Amino acid sequence: MRENKNKECAKNFIYQIIENDLVSGKCTLVRTRFPPEPNGYLHIGHAKSICLNFGLAQDYKGYCNLRFDDTNPTNKHAKYIEAIKKDINWLGFQWNGTVRYSSDYTEILYLYAIKLIKKGLAYVDELSKAQIREYRGTLKDPGKNSPYRSRSIQENLFLFNKMKNGMFSEGAACLRAKINMSSSFIVMRDPVLYRIKFIQHHKTGTKWCIYPTYDFTHCISDSLEGITHSLCTLEFQDNRQLYNWILKNIDISVPPRQYEFARLNLKYTVTSKRCLKLLVEKKIVDGWDDPRMPTIAGLRRRGYTASSIREFCHRIGLTKQNNQIEISTLESCIRDELNELAPRVMAVINPVKIIINNLPKDYNEKLSMPNHPYKSEMGTRNVMFTREILIEKSDFRENITNNDQHYKRLVLGGEVRLRNSYVIKAEHIEKNIQGEIIVIYCTCDLKTLNKHPDDRKIRGVIHWVSAIYGISAEFRFYDNLFLVPNPSNCKNFLENINPNSLTVTHGFVESQNIINNANISYQFERIGYFRIDNSCFQSTHPIFHQIVSLRNISNLK
Ligand code: ATP
Ligand code: MG
Repeated sequence: MRENKNKECAKNFIYQIIENDLVSGKCTLVRTRFPPEPNGYLHIGHAKSICLNFGLAQDYKGYCNLRFDDTNPTNKHAKYIEAIKKDINWLGFQWNGTVRYSSDYTEILYLYAIKLIKKGLAYVDELSKAQIREYRGTLKDPGKNSPYRSRSIQENLFLFNKMKNGMFSEGAACLRAKINMSSSFIVMRDPVLYRIKFIQHHKTGTKWCIYPTYDFTHCISDSLEGITHSLCTLEFQDNRQLYNWILKNIDISVPPRQYEFARLNLKYTVTSKRCLKLLVEKKIVDGWDDPRMPTIAGLRRRGYTASSIREFCHRIGLTKQNNQIEISTLESCIRDELNELAPRVMAVINPVKIIINNLPKDYNEKLSMPNHPYKSEMGTRNVMFTREILIEKSDFRENITNNDQHYKRLVLGGEVRLRNSYVIKAEHIEKNIQGEIIVIYCTCDLKTLNKHPDDRKIRGVIHWVSAIYGISAEFRFYDNLFLVPNPSNCKNFLENINPNSLTVTHGFVESQNIINNANISYQFERIGYFRIDNSCFQSTHPIFHQIVSLRNISNLK
């Protein structure tokens, strides 16, 4: 029985099925599997399946296998295999035993194919690919039998052997199950079980030139591994008929059961390795781990934590209804986590200089600041306050109109508090020949360190960085990769790329300490949550990725 309540699978319909199976004795040990095809990096949709499959195994003290679906030799595998393993471990899961490959079962699969032929349930067809499609019929019209369908068992055995020995060219023959060409399930209209491909396989080399199809391989692999619950996405619902047919006809007495759930679709992005690969190949993004990508590697580089992704998979739940999830649901998971855990620091992303006239040139004051507004256990840090500091351009206005009455920042002639520091007053400004403000000259009220002045009210607080001690840095802000909520539905999804998905600014962070630890995500006060790019750790001009804004701006738009 279920012992440890794993959030990922609590109370969803799969959990109900498993509970019933355990009560009825249909199953005593839960065994699941995660079966990625190593033709790309894992994305957030895979995370849903990983949390489900590995989560169930953890929950019921069962097993979850990692099995690479590598029966299709056309895709390059090695680098994706390593990346996928890394991502699963990073998400916090470990597979049972060794990594498996469906190609481990090549010999057995072949023997099962022979078994079907011997039972008169499979035949070698010599129709072309196009003819097979034409003979298959449509949802309205039944298919028609191939003229090769009635071959004798002997002839089929002979021809299948010929296929195996490379005596047919690619596409000249295939092995098909003999089921029912007028079945209401199109997948049951004599599906292809084996096709010829003269391609080297990453594991079996050139030993084979016939390769089993996904449908033939998947159910048999599940059965060989003793999988009890084979969980997949809804598009495989009809394939369940074939899954069961194959296992029944190769005489598996306790077959695994397939159950389907809705795939994860995220708005304004694509969750398909094929589409993501195109973005990489066309250099629309800067690799699989570009922080705009919905890949696990991209999210990690951006600063998402494994726990925030698991939390997301928990929040979206598991149903049989296809829908599209708002990106803000994902964002709120990391925001909630970082709100609790991220140390607060200051950074200025679009700086303008302030000179505080009433401080001496070499003024240096160490100011102690809390690292978190309500978690005193996170301690304090020292930040140097100097005569020259930097603030955001947007935090200063030369003059305000009646419409700007709510503007609570620095205005020429007005006062503002510097975060965790003093109240300053803007006295006059210096502009360059283009008319841009280059220096704001201020005075500082030295009686106001973390204290309200008695005689007047100061309306705003702004953040700042010492112009002497601040470290220059690049800041990268991300927006959706696509302009439309459902790019996968467009004829050409590449036409809807958001040209402004990346915005770069140059500014300063408060001190060297911030770039000394690549593993910490920070809240840059009043801006958002940021993480240093791993490659820039201790660099002289580090890059910070904005993980997420402070608030859900999509609600405000
Ligand atoms: P893709 O189109 O991205 O390649 P796929 O289904 O072909 O997706 P696989 O590598 O075969 O990718 O997927 C491994 C497992 O992850 C499968 O069990 C699949 O059902 C599941 N999976 C893939 N995409 C999603 C998704 N968007 N939501 C939930 N599960 C998914
Ligand atoms: Mg696939």
